[in-house]
Amino acid sequence: MKISRIDHLGIAVQSIEEVLPYYENVLGLKCYAIEEVADQKVKTAFLKVGEVKLELLEPTSPESAVAKFMEKGGRGVHHVAFAVEDGVANALAECTEKGVRLIDQQPRPGAEHMNIAFLHPKTTAGVLTELCEPMK
Ligand code: ZN
Repeated sequence: MKISRIDHLGIAVQSIEEVLPYYENVLGLKCYAIEEVADQKVKTAFLKVGEVKLELLEPTSPESAVAKFMEKGGRGVHHVAFAVEDGVANALAECTEKGVRLIDQQPRPGAEHMNIAFLHPKTTAGVLTELCEPMK
């Protein structure tokens, strides 16, 4: 697969509203989009840091993977998302071939008009890894 850059870091939060003042007033970043992703049961807020984005993830249901992550004591950085240039579907096929465990067997719609898929942290050195590409 061909990874061009880190697209974003996903950060788990209890409440976007509560943490936004830190990002905006202390770090001086600007939230440019808030979007609910029903599929993942999260509300997302996006901020730009140069080329890289921060994706704040607030669970909208206790069933959300992000809610479960926090329930197990997880805080802060939740996943790293890499932009792949030659397609998420191709990358997933390559991962399967190389013994990487997939969370998503095929790309699905994410926030920001991206096709996304997650790889299981058990086979990615402990880091929940997202692969993404702009939707066509
Ligand atoms: Zn993400």
